[in-house]
Amino acid sequence: MNVDFSPAELEFQQQVRQWFADNLPADLKRKNELGKMPSRDELVAWQRKLNEQGWLAPGWPEEHGGPGWTATQRYIFDLERARAGAPIGLSMGIVMLGPVLMAFGTPEQKQTYLPRILSCDDWWCQGYSEPGSGSDLASLKTSAVPDGDSYVVNGSKIWTTYAHYANRMFCLVRTSNEGKKQAGISFLLIDMDTPGLEVRPIISIDGEHHLNEVFFTDVRVPKANLVGQEGQGWTIAKYLLTHERTTIAGVADSKVNLGILKAMAAENQSNGKPMLEDPRIRRRIAQVEIDLLALEWTNLRTLAATAAGKAPGPESSNLKLAGTAVQQAITELMVEIAGPWAWPWQTGDYVGPPELAHAVERYNFARAATIYGGSDEVQKNVLAKMMLGLK
Ligand SMILES: Cc1cc2nc3c(=O)[nH]c(=O)nc-3n(C[C@H](O)[C@H](O)[C@H](O)COP(=O)(O)OP(=O)(O)OC[C@H]3O[C@@H](n4cnc5c(N)ncnc54)[C@H](O)[C@@H]3O)c2cc1C
Repeated sequence: MNVDFSPAELEFQQQVRQWFADNLPADLKRKNELGKMPSRDELVAWQRKLNEQGWLAPGWPEEHGGPGWTATQRYIFDLERARAGAPIGLSMGIVMLGPVLMAFGTPEQKQTYLPRILSCDDWWCQGYSEPGSGSDLASLKTSAVPDGDSYVVNGSKIWTTYAHYANRMFCLVRTSNEGKKQAGISFLLIDMDTPGLEVRPIISIDGEHHLNEVFFTDVRVPKANLVGQEGQGWTIAKYLLTHERTTIAGVADSKVNLGILKAMAAENQSNGKPMLEDPRIRRRIAQVEIDLLALEWTNLRTLAATAAGKAPGPESSNLKLAGTAVQQAITELMVEIAGPWAWPWQTGDYVGPPELAHAVERYNFARAATIYGGSDEVQKNVLAKMMLGLK
């Protein structure tokens, strides 16, 4: 695999770098550097700016409004985005639902929803997990019963990220209890303002409201909102999850965060010396850097396979496992280096350098990375079965 960029790719890199330098708002950059989430309005405004440039959905083909980039261009774009300090875009519509609609949607569904994902007129959330059906997703119980031109949906979802911001949900529902449990699952698009749908907040360990419970009581959903065939939901869900897991690896952002970690260790002192001179800290930072380099090459190999026309397969579980381990190792080291500076995170009375003071928030946020998109143990099961052929 040739990893040298061609002259045209280097020119593209310069173009992207310059665009971010000219267009990224300073306060958004600062929030991102401190690992803080932008507000809904900030994120929408930023995504609309990217869309005006035609760069909001790097993986989409031109026929659907994407830039039609090669895998290498997408890689360069992500490196430059992270390097500039720009937040990662909302993945629910762009990374997850968009490719599903392109592959399984009707012409009407593509025409209706794809442009609205790009214009940010729709904010999608993912309604998969239920109480008792997370890792064992196929056991989900939320039912959709046909009634005339509609399905009537009853049940509940949990851990639904940004359901309180979303106006639409893509949802897995049970349309049959016959045969294998996977065969009775269907994929529905649901408007969040449909009568009978209720969103309740869950506050996570970082003290923020990202997550929700969603309850359905006799929610009527038009049959035209079914994606694919009835009973095809499990196939669609698996297709979507491989896309989700590839992006969770987060190589570009980990590279930037490793730089921030090193700067923290260079600036913060212990026993009158920069912590970066402490052999114990140096060894651990070096280990993370080695792991990140290995991850980057694995990611490049997957990109090369995607460029050759292959859909991301079970290797995406490997990327997710290794990528989230690196994310957590970096944030753990950040907290150790920050030491007492990180303590006031619970009260908000920050003193000292902001990068150090916000270390615990980053750490708390990264804890969830080995759970969402499928837990570590579940990824290992997928690898054992699909790649090693173990039963
Ligand atoms: C921050 C965050 C955001 C999320 N956002 C969304 C969202 O937007 N939409 C959505 O649908 N879901 C979302 N989720 C839910 C997420 O997908 C589930 O939490 C995840 O699939 C694990 O399911 P669970 O929580 O039910 O845990 P469980 O499945 O109950 O697992 C509990 C423990 O048992 C282990 N375990 C389970 N089964 C096995 C097995 N077969 N072998 C070995 N170990 C096993 C797990 O690894 C875990 O350690 C989110 C979760 C988090 C933390």
